[in-house]
Amino acid sequence: MRAFLEINLKAIANNIRAVKEKTSAEILAVVKADAYGHGLIPIAKCAIDSGASWLGVALLEEALTLRESGIKAPIIAWLTPPNSDFTAAITADIDLSIPSLKHLEVIVAAGKALGKKPRVHIEVDTGMTRGGLLGEWQEFLSAVKGAGVEVIGLWSHFARADEPGEISNERQLFEFENRLAELRSVGIHPKYLHIANSAAMLNNPESHKNIVRLGIAMYGLSPDIKTMGGSDSLDLEPAMTLKAEIHLIKRVNSGTSVGYGAIETTNRDTKLAIIMMGYSDGIPRNTSNKAGVFVAGSRAPIIGRVSMDQFVVDIGPDSEAQPGDIVEVFGALGYSIDEWATAAGTINYEIVTRIAARVSRIYL
Ligand SMILES: *Cc1c(COP(=O)(O)O)cnc(C)c1O
Repeated sequence: MRAFLEINLKAIANNIRAVKEKTSAEILAVVKADAYGHGLIPIAKCAIDSGASWLGVALLEEALTLRESGIKAPIIAWLTPPNSDFTAAITADIDLSIPSLKHLEVIVAAGKALGKKPRVHIEVDTGMTRGGLLGEWQEFLSAVKGAGVEVIGLWSHFARADEPGEISNERQLFEFENRLAELRSVGIHPKYLHIANSAAMLNNPESHKNIVRLGIAMYGLSPDIKTMGGSDSLDLEPAMTLKAEIHLIKRVNSGTSVGYGAIETTNRDTKLAIIMMGYSDGIPRNTSNKAGVFVAGSRAPIIGRVSMDQFVVDIGPDSEAQPGDIVEVFGALGYSIDEWATAAGTINYEIVTRIAARVSRIYL
């Protein structure tokens, strides 16, 4: 196979169990964006089997796909614009987020037409200024009373959870408590409260409430390697390894320019290997000379520009690698996902979610 991801389900299970030991809250496994590139259904099933009791996704389509696969656990979809198919959502017992009056109105209408009370989680904006109710809050308080929805939860999201000790986290928690008190004062008592993502789960116990929404840490990656350290220091095990095949190996002299734009030149007599992946597979183009692969027992840096379907690495004059061999692009042996992210000037989240769908996922 020319390029594939190996997904270690045991790592996912271990990461969930490790997190569960640190909290009494229920775990909501965040499986949006094809489970951060790891594969929606296999990861969702593994998460439920490993102790997660909720699933969370951005899109309604993702939630419906999960239900169709036979998953019975509660599923929240939180990025559902007003024209979404709420009839399908309510029929499939998908929990819906309510971030505006407009959403309340259309979800209530869909529920009435079906004769079934929608299960909803009220989303409040406590300081991130993205999703959730903000200026409409007072109007919402009057509108939601007796509105024909079953209020399951109240939730919000942190802007800076990956900065331990940052004061805005305290402010957001304070605002969250205020919104809860106001909701209770109109007679609405949501059973579930949730605001913590992975970073808050790991460094802010006060924020756990009774559900934590676990994303990146479940996949074994750090929410922020600068402020919180890498996977190792957090006792997390990355679940994703990327591998690709060598198309060609060639000997070249020192001073040979390589690839588009001839931006780099060999600095020794060496051997080059052409790797069967490129930017169309999710290999960032701006990693030239900064990341690399692990092959025949050594790290081999990228040389020259990453192309659409291929890139070139310098394997050194003595490498025993052969055409057809499989190299590790990122994984436990050579370059980590975090090294690739740093090389590309981005974060591990973006590296894993952008591996193209055409790269097969193999489950271990
Ligand atoms: C993506 C997401 C999460 C998970 O965040 P991580 O940093 O990956 O743990 C939690 N909550 C919401 C609303 C999200 O969109």
